[in-house]
Amino acid sequence: MRAVVAGGAGFIGSHLCARLLADGLEVVALDNLLTGDRRNLVALQGRAGFTLIETDITRPLPDIDNVDLVFHLASPASPPGYMRYPIETALANSQGSHRLLELAERHRARYLMASTSEAYGDPLEHPQRESYWGNVDPVGERACYDESKRYAEMIAMVYHHTRDVDTRVVRIFNTYGPHSDPEDGRIIPQFVSQALRAEPITVHGDGSQTRSFCFVSDLIEGLMRAMLRGRTRGQVINLGNPDERSVLEIARIIARIADTGAPIIHVDQARVGDPRRRCPDIGRATALLEWEPRVGLEVGLRHTVDWFRERLAVPAPIGG
Ligand code: NAD
Ligand code: UDP
Repeated sequence: MRAVVAGGAGFIGSHLCARLLADGLEVVALDNLLTGDRRNLVALQGRAGFTLIETDITRPLPDIDNVDLVFHLASPASPPGYMRYPIETALANSQGSHRLLELAERHRARYLMASTSEAYGDPLEHPQRESYWGNVDPVGERACYDESKRYAEMIAMVYHHTRDVDTRVVRIFNTYGPHSDPEDGRIIPQFVSQALRAEPITVHGDGSQTRSFCFVSDLIEGLMRAMLRGRTRGQVINLGNPDERSVLEIARIIARIADTGAPIIHVDQARVGDPRRRCPDIGRATALLEWEPRVGLEVGLRHTVDWFRERLAVPAPIGG
């Protein structure tokens, strides 16, 4: 079996490539390295069955033979990242989706669209079920991401309904772990990097806004099941960890684990359009995929801090 992973040099994509190879599949990663990093793939480069093609999925795709699975993970994902690259983000999810759906159609391959909890915007329903249509500002600063993901969901379903392509949409909630970019501004990479460097941990506003954090290995298991199990065709499925925490709580836990004495400070400017609360209802994933997260926040954050310590070349604390 051969899988194409668009966005394979990114945080989640690189873990997915490793998992697919470990399961005996051949993997072709497509990535233009806009927000990804070749270092995420060093352990895979040169391995039989693995190819990285540096290419932009909004352009005509290279010829690839015998494709069975197409994962679309290619898009900037952090708020500072997509606000820096708004047009690239909009195109990756719109034009890029068309190209990958055409590839899936040509090969009669299964297709998985990595959408996002941001499809719910600043949600008025809590927790968020897949049936909720969301509360999204269609012209706000986040729209290049939110609205293009909503477009990507729509076009995946259109190919399912009208072109008989075997598609599914996964709405990923905040995910963290090794390979996340220390500089991309997302809460966990940001707080861990700040804590390890003994710099102030910058909580936006009072830190009472919430998110629910899924460790990357749990997410990868969910993605594999969403792609490979029966009864997932044409489905929209939330994947995330329903363990909802405030931003301030996350800052305190990371400060404790990093143990460098980094202070927590409140920076006044909450981000424009920052959702107040976010938590997945994972009832559908549990029913369809028999999936639920297994890695608790404390354990996942310890792994993450250890990986960042190495990436940032920060010595471990004495006795740590
Ligand atoms: P990431 O930025 O680490 O990975 C995205 C990858 O896509 C990068 O390697 C980037 O270079 C590549 N890419 C971007 N535009 C491309 C293009 N036009 N052509 C080829 N490659 C391109 O982000 P991530 O956190 O790994 O996210 C992966 C996917 O999961 C994204 O689609 C994102 O929207 C979705 N997602 C992630 C999270 C999360 O918490 N990490 C949450 C919700 C959704
Ligand atoms: N956040 C913060 N300080 C930072 C980075 C993020 O307080 O240095 C907050 C941000 O305002 C948001 C939450 O953490 O409320 C999650 O932000 P992230 O960038 O991880 O992504 P989002 O969930 O908003 O897409």
